[in-house]
Amino acid sequence: MLASRCSLRPTASRPASGVARMPVGRSRLNVVCASNAKFFVGGNWKCNGSVGNVRKLVDELNAESIPAGVDVVCAPPYIYIDYVMQHLDRDKYQLAAQNCWIGGNGAYTGEVSAEQLQDFGVPWVILGHSERRALCNESNEVVAKKTAHALAAGLGVIACIGETLEQRQSGSVFKVLDAQMQALVDEVKDWSKVVVAYEPVWAIGTGVVATPEQAQEVHAYLRKFLTARLGSSVASTLRIIYGGSVNDANCKELSLQEDIDGFLVGGASLKGSSFATICNAAGKKAKI
Ligand code: PEP
Repeated sequence: MLASRCSLRPTASRPASGVARMPVGRSRLNVVCASNAKFFVGGNWKCNGSVGNVRKLVDELNAESIPAGVDVVCAPPYIYIDYVMQHLDRDKYQLAAQNCWIGGNGAYTGEVSAEQLQDFGVPWVILGHSERRALCNESNEVVAKKTAHALAAGLGVIACIGETLEQRQSGSVFKVLDAQMQALVDEVKDWSKVVVAYEPVWAIGTGVVATPEQAQEVHAYLRKFLTARLGSSVASTLRIIYGGSVNDANCKELSLQEDIDGFLVGGASLKGSSFATICNAAGKKAKI
């Protein structure tokens, strides 16, 4: 039985402007499931902030109004999680860590386990961010194993994928995404607490945002990929969010795309008013 928002539609790529055109060129009718998911916005504070800045940001965020039908998750650096947990308005915002260890507790100096996050009351973790893939050599398999472990420990996972500029320019976007997604499919048994963040590496922190057409094309592709492997009911409720230079000026147009279920935000999550504007871009996609 297909989910209510499945339809027959042409899957030919639209011409994409911006950084590079993607050679998709598939033009046939396929069963495609549009999203039926609750909007989700993550704020990745990365390795930014100080005690003073974090206090200021928490105060700014608490003063903002956030639509009730949107999941909003803030990911401070580990060292500030305790403060943020105690002072951020938890009726509006949930918390995430930016990474965790691949397994349980033990002799892993410098690491924090998913079990410890769960014990401390942190419900989400970002895994596979491109900065960790590039700077800490995290492979698709490592990211997938971390994801499965974190889910088994009870966390929700924001699993990041995305291609580099070189990969996009060489026409291997879908090959790269297939490998990143297939590694997750091989390890994850229950997708109900997974959010997939499509973050083209060329758009992260660069100010070069994907066009709405570029982002929608990839999101629709990912939903089709997931429909084929996991079925339409999982694929239509799984959040596929976009990340990469999202800000208060470009969020609305991106949010209107059929398969964009929210955002993962870096730089603009460090300013309360900008982040709140992005959360409010959900419009009709906010679901109570
Ligand atoms: C990110 O790091 O996840 C991100 C999307 O960063 P920015 O919004 O700054 O591009």
